Amino acid sequence: MSRIFLKSAAVAFASLAVSLLLTLIVVPAMGFPFNRTMWLTSTVCPLALAWIASGHTFWQGERLKSAHRDLARAHAQLAAAHRRLSEKASRDDMTGMLNRESFFAALDASRRKSDRGALLIIDADHFKIINDSYGHLTGDDALLLIANAIERGVRSGDVIGRIGGEEFGAFLVGATEQEAKRVAERIRREVELIRFRPVDERTIPLTVSIGGVTCGEDAAVSELMRTADRRLYQAKHSGRNRTILDRDVSEAA
Ligand code: GH3
Ligand code: MG
Ligand code: MG
Repeated sequence: MSRIFLKSAAVAFASLAVSLLLTLIVVPAMGFPFNRTMWLTSTVCPLALAWIASGHTFWQGERLKSAHRDLARAHAQLAAAHRRLSEKASRDDMTGMLNRESFFAALDASRRKSDRGALLIIDADHFKIINDSYGHLTGDDALLLIANAIERGVRSGDVIGRIGGEEFGAFLVGATEQEAKRVAERIRREVELIRFRPVDERTIPLTVSIGGVTCGEDAAVSELMRTADRRLYQAKHSGRNRTILDRDVSEAA
C-alpha cells in the first residue's frame, strides 16, 4: 500500500512540475498576467488529479499482478494434479507397475528409440492352484512377490508392466539375445528363490515361465507379442519354470 502511495506521489509531483513549466511558458506567451487563481489551478489540479488517478491505476495494477500470481499458482497446482492423475491412471493398482495399455505404449516408444531390444512375457506357473488352495488374498501376496522379483531381475531403464492377471511384460531396452537370455534367466531364478510361507512353515513354490523375442527397429509390437507368446506357450508345455528366447520349432521350419 505504501509503495502505491509513494509511486502515485511521485507521479503527482512530476505532473505538478510539468504543469508549472507549461504555465510559465504558455501564460506569458499568450500575454496574460499571472494571478493567484492561475497559480492555484496549475498546482492544486495536477497534484490532486494525478495523485488520485495514478493511485487508482497503480492499485488496479497491483490487484491484476496479484490475480495473475494466484492464477499462475492455480495453474501449476492443476498441472501437478493432472500429472499425478495420469501417472496413477497408467499404473496397476496392486503392483504399481505400468498397466497393460501404458506398458505397450512405453514399449512402442522405447523400441523406436533403440535399434535393439527384447520383449519378455512372464507368466506365473499354476497360479490358479495357489488361489484355489490358499485363497485369492494369498494369491495377491504371491503376485506381489513375483512382481518384486521381476523388478529385481531387470536392469534399470528397462520397461516393465503387468499385462494380465498373473502375466507381466518386460522390454529390455537395447538388449542383445545373449543379454536378454541372461535377464530372463535372472528373473526366473529370482522367482524360484522366493520363500513364500503364507500360512505355516510350509514353503509354497513360486515359478514363472518366460517367452521372449529380440527385435530390430522396425518390428511391429503385435508381431513381437505373437512370437513371445508362442514361446511362452512352448515354455509352459515343456515343463514350466523355464525361459525360451531362441528361434522356435515353427520358425526353424
Ligand atoms: P499356467 O501355468 O498354465 O499359466 O497356469 P495358471 O493357473 O497360472 O493359468 P490360468 O490361466 O489357468 O489361471 C490364472 C490364474 O491367475 C487364475 C486367476 O484367478 C489368477 N489371477 C489372475 N489375476 C489375479 C490377481 O490379481 N490376484 C489373484 N490372487 N489371482 C489372480
Ligand atoms: Mg499362469
Ligand atoms: Mg496367464
